[in-house]
Amino acid sequence: MEPTRTAERAAAPRPAAAAGDHLARKGVRTVALTWVDNAGITRVKTVPLNRLQHAVDWGVGMSPVFDVFLVDDSITTSRYIGGPAGDLRLFPDLGRLTALAGQPGWAWAPADRRTQDGEPHVACQRTFAQNIVRQAAKAGLTLKMAFEVEWFVGAQDGTPACRGPAYGMTRVIELSAYIDAVLTALREQDVPVQQFHPEYAPGQLELSVGAADPVAAADRNILVRQTIRAVSQQHGYHVSFAPTVVAGGVGNGGHLHLSAWQDRANLFSGGDGPHGLTDRGESVLAGLLARLPALCAIGAPSPGSYLRLVPQRWAGPWHCWGLENREAALRFITGSAGERDRAANAELKCFDASANPYLIAGAVTAVAAAALSAGLRLPPEVPGDPALLPEADQPPRLPQSVPEAVAALRKDDLLPDALGAPLLEAFCAVRLAEHELFADAEPAAVAEATRWKY
Ligand code: GLU
Ligand code: MG
Repeated sequence: MEPTRTAERAAAPRPAAAAGDHLARKGVRTVALTWVDNAGITRVKTVPLNRLQHAVDWGVGMSPVFDVFLVDDSITTSRYIGGPAGDLRLFPDLGRLTALAGQPGWAWAPADRRTQDGEPHVACQRTFAQNIVRQAAKAGLTLKMAFEVEWFVGAQDGTPACRGPAYGMTRVIELSAYIDAVLTALREQDVPVQQFHPEYAPGQLELSVGAADPVAAADRNILVRQTIRAVSQQHGYHVSFAPTVVAGGVGNGGHLHLSAWQDRANLFSGGDGPHGLTDRGESVLAGLLARLPALCAIGAPSPGSYLRLVPQRWAGPWHCWGLENREAALRFITGSAGERDRAANAELKCFDASANPYLIAGAVTAVAAAALSAGLRLPPEVPGDPALLPEADQPPRLPQSVPEAVAALRKDDLLPDALGAPLLEAFCAVRLAEHELFADAEPAAVAEATRWKY
Protein backbone atom coordinates (compact mmCIF):
# COMPACT_ATOMS: atom_id res chain seq x y z
CA MET A 1 0.00 0.00 0.00
CA GLU A 2 1.55 3.28 -1.02
CA PRO A 3 1.89 5.85 1.78
CA THR A 4 -0.34 8.51 0.20
CA ARG A 5 -3.40 6.28 0.14
CA THR A 6 -2.78 5.19 3.72
CA ALA A 7 -2.50 8.81 4.82
CA GLU A 8 -5.62 9.77 2.89
CA ARG A 9 -7.60 7.05 4.56
CA ALA A 10 -6.32 7.87 8.02
CA ALA A 11 -7.33 11.50 7.47
CA ALA A 12 -10.77 10.64 6.08
CA PRO A 13 -13.87 11.66 8.05
CA ARG A 14 -15.25 8.99 10.39
CA PRO A 15 -18.83 8.62 9.11
CA ALA A 16 -19.31 5.24 10.74
CA ALA A 17 -18.94 6.75 14.19
CA ALA A 18 -22.19 8.70 14.03
CA ALA A 19 -23.97 5.82 12.32
CA GLY A 20 -22.57 3.43 14.92
CA ASP A 21 -23.82 5.56 17.84
CA HIS A 22 -27.25 5.67 16.27
CA LEU A 23 -27.30 1.88 15.83
CA ALA A 24 -25.95 1.23 19.32
CA ARG A 25 -28.88 3.20 20.74
CA LYS A 26 -31.15 0.86 18.79
CA GLY A 27 -29.49 -2.16 20.41
CA VAL A 28 -27.41 -3.19 17.39
CA ARG A 29 -24.33 -5.22 18.22
CA THR A 30 -23.31 -6.73 14.86
CA VAL A 31 -23.43 -5.59 11.24
CA ALA A 32 -23.98 -8.01 8.34
CA LEU A 33 -22.20 -6.98 5.12
CA THR A 34 -23.73 -8.77 2.15
CA TRP A 35 -22.92 -9.22 -1.49
CA VAL A 36 -24.72 -11.36 -4.02
CA ASP A 37 -22.70 -13.88 -5.98
CA ASN A 38 -23.05 -15.06 -9.56
CA ALA A 39 -25.26 -17.94 -8.41
CA GLY A 40 -27.73 -15.42 -6.97
CA ILE A 41 -26.90 -16.35 -3.39
CA THR A 42 -26.54 -13.58 -0.82
CA ARG A 43 -23.27 -14.24 1.00
CA VAL A 44 -22.13 -12.43 4.11
CA LYS A 45 -19.36 -11.38 6.45
CA THR A 46 -20.30 -9.79 9.73
CA VAL A 47 -18.45 -7.39 12.03
CA PRO A 48 -19.08 -6.24 15.60
CA LEU A 49 -20.51 -2.74 15.60
CA ASN A 50 -17.28 -1.34 17.04
CA ARG A 51 -15.40 -2.62 13.95
CA LEU A 52 -17.71 -0.85 11.50
CA GLN A 53 -15.37 2.13 11.14
CA HIS A 54 -12.50 -0.22 10.38
CA ALA A 55 -14.60 -1.94 7.74
CA VAL A 56 -15.46 1.44 6.20
CA ASP A 57 -11.78 2.44 6.11
CA TRP A 58 -10.16 -0.86 5.15
CA GLY A 59 -12.90 -3.26 4.13
CA VAL A 60 -13.38 -6.80 5.35
CA GLY A 61 -11.46 -9.65 3.75
CA MET A 62 -13.08 -12.23 1.51
CA SER A 63 -11.81 -14.45 -1.26
CA PRO A 64 -12.48 -13.81 -4.97
CA VAL A 65 -13.28 -17.53 -5.27
CA PHE A 66 -16.87 -16.69 -4.31
CA ASP A 67 -17.24 -15.42 -7.88
CA VAL A 68 -17.30 -19.06 -8.99
CA PHE A 69 -19.46 -20.58 -6.23
CA LEU A 70 -22.53 -22.54 -7.34
CA VAL A 71 -25.94 -22.79 -5.73
CA ASP A 72 -24.92 -26.02 -3.94
CA ASP A 73 -21.71 -24.38 -2.64
CA SER A 74 -19.54 -26.41 -4.98
CA ILE A 75 -16.91 -24.36 -6.76
CA THR A 76 -16.07 -24.10 -10.43
CA THR A 77 -13.40 -22.01 -12.09
CA SER A 78 -13.30 -19.48 -14.91
CA ARG A 79 -10.85 -17.90 -17.28
CA TYR A 80 -9.89 -14.97 -15.06
CA ILE A 81 -11.19 -15.86 -11.62
CA GLY A 82 -11.08 -19.05 -9.56
CA GLY A 83 -8.86 -20.95 -7.17
CA PRO A 84 -8.03 -20.50 -3.53
CA ALA A 85 -5.47 -17.68 -3.73
CA GLY A 86 -6.05 -13.94 -3.46
CA ASP A 87 -8.08 -11.63 -1.30
CA LEU A 88 -10.62 -8.86 -1.75
CA ARG A 89 -12.09 -6.34 0.65
CA LEU A 90 -15.80 -5.78 1.30
CA PHE A 91 -16.69 -2.11 1.80
CA PRO A 92 -20.11 -1.44 3.35
CA ASP A 93 -22.26 1.26 1.77
CA LEU A 94 -23.06 3.35 4.83
CA GLY A 95 -25.83 5.14 2.98
CA ARG A 96 -27.83 1.91 3.16
CA LEU A 97 -26.95 0.92 6.72
CA THR A 98 -30.16 -0.39 8.27
CA ALA A 99 -31.02 -1.77 11.71
CA LEU A 100 -32.78 -5.06 10.99
CA ALA A 101 -36.23 -5.13 12.54
CA GLY A 102 -36.55 -8.89 11.98
CA GLN A 103 -33.17 -9.64 13.59
CA PRO A 104 -32.81 -7.85 16.93
CA GLY A 105 -29.17 -6.92 17.62
CA TRP A 106 -28.29 -6.81 13.92
CA ALA A 107 -27.82 -4.19 11.25
CA TRP A 108 -27.13 -4.68 7.56
CA ALA A 109 -25.33 -2.89 4.74
CA PRO A 110 -24.69 -4.01 1.17
CA ALA A 111 -21.01 -4.13 0.29
CA ASP A 112 -18.88 -3.27 -2.72
CA ARG A 113 -15.85 -5.38 -3.41
CA ARG A 114 -12.44 -3.81 -3.92
CA THR A 115 -8.87 -5.00 -4.12
CA GLN A 116 -6.44 -4.63 -1.23
CA ASP A 117 -5.18 -1.53 -3.06
CA GLY A 118 -8.62 0.00 -2.90
CA GLU A 119 -9.41 -0.40 -6.61
CA PRO A 120 -12.85 -1.68 -7.65
CA HIS A 121 -12.89 -5.47 -8.11
CA VAL A 122 -13.37 -6.11 -11.84
CA ALA A 123 -16.11 -8.65 -11.18
CA CYS A 124 -18.04 -6.80 -8.46
CA GLN A 125 -21.67 -6.98 -9.53
CA ARG A 126 -22.77 -3.99 -7.45
CA THR A 127 -19.94 -1.84 -8.78
CA PHE A 128 -20.89 -2.90 -12.32
CA ALA A 129 -24.45 -1.68 -11.70
CA GLN A 130 -23.23 1.59 -10.17
CA ASN A 131 -20.91 2.30 -13.11
CA ILE A 132 -23.58 1.61 -15.70
CA VAL A 133 -26.13 3.75 -13.88
CA ARG A 134 -23.60 6.59 -13.70
CA GLN A 135 -22.90 6.33 -17.43
CA ALA A 136 -26.62 6.36 -18.21
CA ALA A 137 -27.08 9.45 -16.06
CA LYS A 138 -24.37 11.21 -18.07
CA ALA A 139 -26.38 10.46 -21.20
CA GLY A 140 -29.37 12.08 -19.47
CA LEU A 141 -31.22 8.83 -18.71
CA THR A 142 -32.60 7.99 -15.29
CA LEU A 143 -34.26 4.66 -14.68
CA LYS A 144 -36.54 3.85 -11.79
CA MET A 145 -36.88 0.21 -10.88
CA ALA A 146 -38.70 -2.05 -8.45
CA PHE A 147 -38.37 -5.80 -8.04
CA GLU A 148 -41.60 -7.59 -7.14
CA VAL A 149 -41.16 -10.23 -4.49
CA GLU A 150 -43.11 -13.49 -4.66
CA TRP A 151 -42.45 -16.17 -2.06
CA PHE A 152 -43.64 -19.50 -0.78
CA VAL A 153 -44.17 -19.82 2.94
CA GLY A 154 -43.95 -23.33 4.29
CA ALA A 155 -44.63 -25.00 7.61
CA GLN A 156 -41.84 -26.96 9.34
CA ASP A 157 -42.52 -30.00 7.15
CA GLY A 158 -42.27 -27.85 4.00
CA THR A 159 -45.98 -28.03 3.14
CA PRO A 160 -47.77 -24.70 2.55
CA ALA A 161 -48.25 -22.71 5.74
CA CYS A 162 -51.77 -21.77 4.69
CA ARG A 163 -54.63 -23.54 2.96
CA GLY A 164 -56.81 -20.69 1.73
CA PRO A 165 -57.41 -20.17 -1.98
CA ALA A 166 -55.29 -18.08 -4.36
CA TYR A 167 -55.68 -14.35 -3.74
CA GLY A 168 -58.05 -15.35 -0.91
CA MET A 169 -58.77 -13.39 2.25
CA THR A 170 -58.65 -16.75 4.05
CA ARG A 171 -54.85 -16.80 3.61
CA VAL A 172 -54.56 -13.32 5.09
CA ILE A 173 -56.58 -14.47 8.09
CA GLU A 174 -54.60 -17.70 8.51
CA LEU A 175 -51.29 -15.81 8.37
CA SER A 176 -52.51 -12.54 9.85
CA ALA A 177 -49.88 -12.16 12.61
CA TYR A 178 -47.06 -13.26 10.32
CA ILE A 179 -47.98 -10.92 7.48
CA ASP A 180 -48.42 -8.05 9.91
CA ALA A 181 -44.96 -8.78 11.35
CA VAL A 182 -43.38 -8.79 7.85
CA LEU A 183 -45.02 -5.49 6.93
CA THR A 184 -44.18 -3.91 10.29
CA ALA A 185 -40.52 -4.93 10.02
CA LEU A 186 -40.31 -3.47 6.52
CA ARG A 187 -41.94 -0.23 7.67
CA GLU A 188 -39.46 0.07 10.54
CA GLN A 189 -36.68 -0.25 7.95
CA ASP A 190 -38.20 2.53 5.81
CA VAL A 191 -39.02 0.15 2.95
CA PRO A 192 -41.99 1.69 1.10
CA VAL A 193 -44.33 -1.28 0.69
CA GLN A 194 -47.04 -0.50 -1.86
CA GLN A 195 -49.17 -3.58 -1.50
CA PHE A 196 -49.27 -7.15 -0.29
CA HIS A 197 -51.44 -10.04 -1.50
CA PRO A 198 -51.72 -13.82 -1.44
CA GLU A 199 -50.56 -15.16 -4.83
CA TYR A 200 -51.74 -18.03 -7.01
CA ALA A 201 -49.65 -21.05 -6.00
CA PRO A 202 -50.28 -22.89 -2.71
CA GLY A 203 -48.59 -21.03 0.15
CA GLN A 204 -47.50 -18.21 -2.18
CA LEU A 205 -47.52 -14.55 -1.17
CA GLU A 206 -46.35 -11.34 -2.84
CA LEU A 207 -45.45 -7.79 -2.03
CA SER A 208 -44.53 -4.77 -4.11
CA VAL A 209 -42.29 -1.92 -3.07
CA GLY A 210 -41.84 1.60 -4.41
CA ALA A 211 -39.48 2.31 -7.30
CA ALA A 212 -35.98 3.64 -6.73
CA ASP A 213 -32.79 4.15 -8.69
CA PRO A 214 -31.53 0.78 -10.03
CA VAL A 215 -28.84 0.10 -7.41
CA ALA A 216 -31.13 1.15 -4.58
CA ALA A 217 -33.83 -1.13 -6.03
CA ALA A 218 -31.42 -4.08 -6.00
CA ASP A 219 -30.32 -3.27 -2.43
CA ARG A 220 -33.95 -3.02 -1.40
CA ASN A 221 -34.71 -6.37 -3.01
CA ILE A 222 -32.03 -8.02 -0.87
CA LEU A 223 -33.21 -6.25 2.27
CA VAL A 224 -36.84 -7.24 1.64
CA ARG A 225 -35.97 -10.89 1.08
CA GLN A 226 -33.76 -11.03 4.18
CA THR A 227 -36.45 -9.43 6.25
CA ILE A 228 -39.11 -11.85 5.03
CA ARG A 229 -36.77 -14.74 5.77
CA ALA A 230 -35.98 -13.50 9.27
CA VAL A 231 -39.61 -12.89 10.20
CA SER A 232 -40.60 -16.26 8.70
CA GLN A 233 -38.00 -17.93 10.87
CA GLN A 234 -39.36 -16.20 13.97
CA HIS A 235 -42.79 -17.57 13.15
CA GLY A 236 -41.50 -21.09 12.57
CA TYR A 237 -41.92 -20.96 8.80
CA HIS A 238 -39.61 -21.83 5.94
CA VAL A 239 -39.47 -19.46 3.02
CA SER A 240 -38.61 -19.97 -0.63
CA PHE A 241 -37.98 -17.36 -3.30
CA ALA A 242 -36.88 -20.06 -5.76
CA PRO A 243 -38.29 -19.86 -9.28
CA THR A 244 -39.56 -23.43 -8.99
CA VAL A 245 -40.78 -24.47 -5.58
CA VAL A 246 -42.79 -27.48 -6.76
CA ALA A 247 -42.07 -28.92 -10.20
CA GLY A 248 -45.04 -28.52 -12.52
CA GLY A 249 -46.57 -25.75 -10.43
CA VAL A 250 -46.73 -21.98 -10.75
CA GLY A 251 -43.37 -20.56 -9.66
CA ASN A 252 -42.06 -17.46 -7.94
CA GLY A 253 -41.34 -14.57 -10.29
CA GLY A 254 -38.94 -11.74 -9.54
CA HIS A 255 -40.54 -9.37 -12.03
CA LEU A 256 -38.73 -6.12 -12.70
CA HIS A 257 -40.80 -2.95 -13.08
CA LEU A 258 -39.03 -0.03 -14.71
CA SER A 259 -39.66 3.41 -16.06
CA ALA A 260 -37.29 5.64 -18.04
CA TRP A 261 -36.97 9.35 -17.33
CA GLN A 262 -35.32 12.33 -19.01
CA ASP A 263 -35.46 15.83 -17.58
CA ARG A 264 -37.94 14.59 -14.98
CA ALA A 265 -40.38 13.39 -17.64
CA ASN A 266 -41.51 9.77 -17.86
CA LEU A 267 -40.64 8.59 -21.38
CA PHE A 268 -43.35 5.92 -21.18
CA SER A 269 -46.19 8.45 -21.11
CA GLY A 270 -47.48 11.52 -22.95
CA GLY A 271 -46.06 10.62 -26.39
CA ASP A 272 -47.56 9.75 -29.77
CA GLY A 273 -46.39 6.13 -29.84
CA PRO A 274 -48.34 3.03 -28.83
CA HIS A 275 -50.30 3.60 -25.59
CA GLY A 276 -48.70 7.02 -25.09
CA LEU A 277 -45.05 5.98 -25.40
CA THR A 278 -42.71 8.75 -26.45
CA ASP A 279 -40.28 8.04 -29.30
CA ARG A 280 -37.44 7.55 -26.86
CA GLY A 281 -39.55 5.51 -24.47
CA GLU A 282 -40.56 3.21 -27.31
CA SER A 283 -36.93 2.89 -28.38
CA VAL A 284 -35.91 1.89 -24.82
CA LEU A 285 -38.60 -0.81 -24.70
CA ALA A 286 -37.80 -2.02 -28.23
CA GLY A 287 -34.14 -2.34 -27.20
CA LEU A 288 -35.06 -4.30 -24.09
CA LEU A 289 -37.44 -6.54 -26.01
CA ALA A 290 -34.86 -7.30 -28.70
CA ARG A 291 -32.24 -8.24 -26.14
CA LEU A 292 -34.50 -10.23 -23.82
CA PRO A 293 -33.02 -13.62 -24.82
CA ALA A 294 -29.59 -12.36 -23.73
CA LEU A 295 -31.03 -10.70 -20.63
CA CYS A 296 -32.63 -14.04 -19.69
CA ALA A 297 -29.15 -15.41 -19.04
CA ILE A 298 -28.88 -12.82 -16.28
CA GLY A 299 -32.50 -12.53 -15.13
CA ALA A 300 -33.62 -16.17 -15.50
CA PRO A 301 -30.25 -17.80 -14.90
CA SER A 302 -30.83 -21.14 -13.18
CA PRO A 303 -32.16 -24.57 -14.15
CA GLY A 304 -35.22 -23.83 -11.99
CA SER A 305 -35.83 -20.65 -14.02
CA TYR A 306 -36.65 -22.73 -17.08
CA LEU A 307 -39.02 -25.02 -15.19
CA ARG A 308 -40.89 -21.84 -14.27
CA LEU A 309 -40.70 -20.09 -17.65
CA VAL A 310 -43.48 -22.01 -19.41
CA PRO A 311 -46.76 -20.86 -20.96
CA GLN A 312 -49.96 -20.13 -19.06
CA ARG A 313 -48.39 -19.48 -15.68
CA TRP A 314 -48.09 -15.68 -16.07
CA ALA A 315 -44.31 -16.05 -16.07
CA GLY A 316 -43.89 -14.22 -19.41
CA PRO A 317 -42.22 -17.01 -21.43
CA TRP A 318 -43.13 -15.50 -24.82
CA HIS A 319 -40.75 -13.18 -26.62
CA CYS A 320 -43.26 -10.41 -27.24
CA TRP A 321 -44.86 -7.41 -25.58
CA GLY A 322 -48.43 -6.42 -24.84
CA LEU A 323 -50.48 -3.92 -22.89
CA GLU A 324 -51.20 -5.48 -19.49
CA ASN A 325 -50.50 -8.90 -21.02
CA ARG A 326 -49.30 -11.25 -18.27
CA GLU A 327 -48.14 -13.93 -20.70
CA ALA A 328 -45.87 -11.52 -22.60
CA ALA A 329 -42.30 -11.23 -21.33
CA LEU A 330 -42.65 -7.46 -21.56
CA ARG A 331 -45.92 -6.27 -20.06
CA PHE A 332 -46.61 -2.60 -20.65
CA ILE A 333 -48.56 -0.79 -17.96
CA THR A 334 -49.98 2.70 -18.54
CA GLY A 335 -51.51 3.16 -15.08
CA SER A 336 -54.89 4.81 -14.65
CA ALA A 337 -56.02 7.91 -16.51
CA GLY A 338 -54.84 10.92 -14.55
CA GLU A 339 -51.69 9.36 -13.12
CA ARG A 340 -50.03 8.06 -16.27
CA ASP A 341 -47.19 10.56 -16.30
CA ARG A 342 -46.12 9.08 -12.95
CA ALA A 343 -47.36 5.50 -13.21
CA ALA A 344 -46.57 4.27 -16.73
CA ASN A 345 -43.97 1.51 -16.55
CA ALA A 346 -42.89 -1.75 -18.10
CA GLU A 347 -42.67 -5.09 -16.35
CA LEU A 348 -40.11 -7.70 -17.38
CA LYS A 349 -41.92 -10.78 -16.18
CA CYS A 350 -39.46 -13.42 -17.25
CA PHE A 351 -36.98 -12.68 -14.44
CA ASP A 352 -36.84 -14.51 -11.11
CA ALA A 353 -35.05 -14.39 -7.78
CA SER A 354 -32.35 -16.91 -8.62
CA ALA A 355 -30.80 -13.92 -10.42
CA ASN A 356 -28.34 -11.45 -8.96
CA PRO A 357 -30.44 -8.24 -8.82
CA TYR A 358 -27.35 -6.05 -9.28
CA LEU A 359 -26.58 -7.78 -12.56
CA ILE A 360 -30.18 -7.28 -13.66
CA ALA A 361 -30.10 -3.60 -12.65
CA GLY A 362 -26.84 -2.98 -14.52
CA ALA A 363 -27.65 -5.03 -17.61
CA VAL A 364 -31.13 -3.56 -18.06
CA THR A 365 -29.76 -0.04 -17.60
CA ALA A 366 -27.01 -0.69 -20.16
CA VAL A 367 -29.55 -1.90 -22.72
CA ALA A 368 -31.93 0.99 -22.03
CA ALA A 369 -29.15 3.57 -22.33
CA ALA A 370 -27.95 2.13 -25.63
CA ALA A 371 -31.49 2.12 -27.02
CA LEU A 372 -32.48 5.61 -25.83
CA SER A 373 -31.46 7.52 -28.95
CA ALA A 374 -31.37 4.61 -31.40
CA GLY A 375 -34.83 5.29 -32.84
CA LEU A 376 -35.98 1.68 -32.41
CA ARG A 377 -39.64 0.80 -32.94
CA LEU A 378 -41.60 -1.91 -31.15
CA PRO A 379 -43.02 -4.76 -33.22
CA PRO A 380 -46.82 -5.19 -33.19
CA GLU A 381 -48.04 -6.06 -29.73
CA VAL A 382 -49.57 -9.41 -28.79
CA PRO A 383 -52.86 -8.72 -27.05
CA GLY A 384 -53.97 -12.09 -25.62
CA ASP A 385 -52.65 -15.49 -24.60
CA PRO A 386 -50.13 -16.57 -27.26
CA ALA A 387 -50.70 -20.22 -26.32
CA LEU A 388 -54.21 -19.94 -27.77
CA LEU A 389 -53.04 -18.70 -31.17
CA PRO A 390 -52.50 -21.12 -34.05
CA GLU A 391 -48.89 -22.24 -33.79
CA ALA A 392 -47.87 -20.37 -36.95
CA ASP A 393 -49.07 -17.09 -35.41
CA GLN A 394 -47.43 -17.52 -32.03
CA PRO A 395 -44.56 -15.25 -31.06
CA PRO A 396 -41.23 -17.00 -30.41
CA ARG A 397 -40.49 -18.40 -27.00
CA LEU A 398 -37.68 -16.99 -24.91
CA PRO A 399 -34.71 -19.34 -24.31
CA GLN A 400 -35.81 -22.62 -22.76
CA SER A 401 -32.60 -23.59 -21.02
CA VAL A 402 -29.57 -22.06 -19.33
CA PRO A 403 -27.18 -22.89 -22.22
CA GLU A 404 -29.59 -21.33 -24.74
CA ALA A 405 -29.75 -18.13 -22.70
CA VAL A 406 -26.00 -18.04 -22.07
CA ALA A 407 -25.36 -18.47 -25.80
CA ALA A 408 -27.64 -15.47 -26.48
CA LEU A 409 -25.74 -13.44 -23.89
CA ARG A 410 -22.37 -14.31 -25.39
CA LYS A 411 -23.63 -13.43 -28.89
CA ASP A 412 -25.06 -10.08 -27.80
CA ASP A 413 -23.13 -7.10 -29.15
CA LEU A 414 -23.54 -4.94 -26.06
CA LEU A 415 -23.80 -6.89 -22.80
CA PRO A 416 -20.49 -8.82 -22.82
CA ASP A 417 -18.60 -5.53 -23.21
CA ALA A 418 -20.69 -3.84 -20.56
CA LEU A 419 -20.03 -6.66 -18.08
CA GLY A 420 -16.34 -6.91 -18.92
CA ALA A 421 -14.56 -10.21 -19.52
CA PRO A 422 -13.77 -11.25 -15.91
CA LEU A 423 -17.36 -10.82 -14.74
CA LEU A 424 -18.87 -12.29 -17.91
CA GLU A 425 -16.62 -15.35 -17.82
CA ALA A 426 -17.13 -16.03 -14.12
CA PHE A 427 -20.89 -15.58 -14.47
CA CYS A 428 -21.19 -17.88 -17.50
CA ALA A 429 -18.95 -20.50 -15.88
CA VAL A 430 -21.16 -20.60 -12.78
CA ARG A 431 -24.43 -20.76 -14.65
CA LEU A 432 -23.26 -23.42 -17.10
CA ALA A 433 -21.78 -25.46 -14.24
CA GLU A 434 -25.15 -25.30 -12.48
CA HIS A 435 -26.77 -26.53 -15.67
CA GLU A 436 -24.32 -29.45 -15.72
CA LEU A 437 -24.98 -30.13 -12.06
CA PHE A 438 -28.64 -30.72 -12.79
CA ALA A 439 -28.36 -32.00 -16.36
CA ASP A 440 -29.61 -35.48 -15.46
CA ALA A 441 -31.96 -34.42 -12.69
CA GLU A 442 -35.74 -34.70 -12.96
CA PRO A 443 -37.62 -31.41 -12.46
CA ALA A 444 -38.74 -32.56 -9.01
CA ALA A 445 -35.12 -33.09 -8.00
CA VAL A 446 -34.11 -29.63 -9.26
CA ALA A 447 -36.93 -28.08 -7.25
CA GLU A 448 -36.00 -30.11 -4.18
CA ALA A 449 -32.30 -29.21 -4.39
CA THR A 450 -32.83 -25.47 -4.84
CA ARG A 451 -36.12 -24.83 -2.97
CA TRP A 452 -34.62 -23.31 0.18
CA LYS A 453 -31.51 -21.76 -1.38
CA TYR A 454 -32.75 -18.41 -2.65
N1 GLU B 1 -46.04 -16.34 -10.17
C1 GLU B 1 -45.97 -15.89 -11.53
C2 GLU B 1 -44.54 -16.03 -12.04
O1 GLU B 1 -43.99 -17.06 -11.99
C3 GLU B 1 -46.45 -14.46 -11.70
C4 GLU B 1 -47.85 -14.16 -11.27
C5 GLU B 1 -48.15 -12.69 -11.50
O2 GLU B 1 -48.50 -12.31 -12.61
O3 GLU B 1 -47.93 -11.92 -10.59
O4 GLU B 1 -43.96 -15.11 -12.50
MG1 MG C 1 -47.40 -11.88 -8.78
